[in-house]
Amino acid sequence: MTEQPAFGGPRSGARGEYGDLLPIRAAVGVPVQCLRNEYLGLYGLTQTYSHRYRLHGTLCETCHLTEARDPQERRLAEWAHLDVTAQHLPAAAPQQGLVLVTHPPAPGALTGQIELRLDNAPVGAATVTCCPACRTAALDYVQVTATHRRLGYGRTLVAAARARAPEYTWTAPLPDGGVAQAFRARLAYPRAAAPCVHRIRSTSG
Ligand SMILES: [Zn+2]
Ligand SMILES: [Zn+2]
Repeated sequence: MTEQPAFGGPRSGARGEYGDLLPIRAAVGVPVQCLRNEYLGLYGLTQTYSHRYRLHGTLCETCHLTEARDPQERRLAEWAHLDVTAQHLPAAAPQQGLVLVTHPPAPGALTGQIELRLDNAPVGAATVTCCPACRTAALDYVQVTATHRRLGYGRTLVAAARARAPEYTWTAPLPDGGVAQAFRARLAYPRAAAPCVHRIRSTSG
């Protein structure tokens, strides 16, 4: 337990060395509020490093106290930051840690995929259709493996998709079913419009 990362503060130990996975959020730099919306400037934070994810993180000291008092509390005190603008092509993606891998549309297609991989194993993906002519983007589908839910992977994939075309007009369909519907219901995107002529003509369908 004496090993320290080269930078990024103390090793993350609050959840067990390689045990439970930390929540993640799309972020860079030091956050202002914690996952319970507490202002970190008031009672303090610790900058951490997750060896599991190979990402920097934050520990909220107030949440840390809250969770220490009540073991039944959800573990939200510490979370890791993923820079959603750092997206790798499959051949160049790091093999270790939590990384975003982008699969651009095939020639003639408009639909691509952004994958979240943990130690090179897919743990989630967003399917996105972008039309450069219309400057529109559709978040067709977001999926997270069942064992990795409630950690912020889905919303991080949404942010990663958005980062690819932040100035486009975004929509998303309304899927059926409990998990998908509850996730979609928290997204501000309007429901998908009729596909544009470019999408109909493309090989994406
Ligand atoms: Zn907190
Ligand atoms: Zn179009």
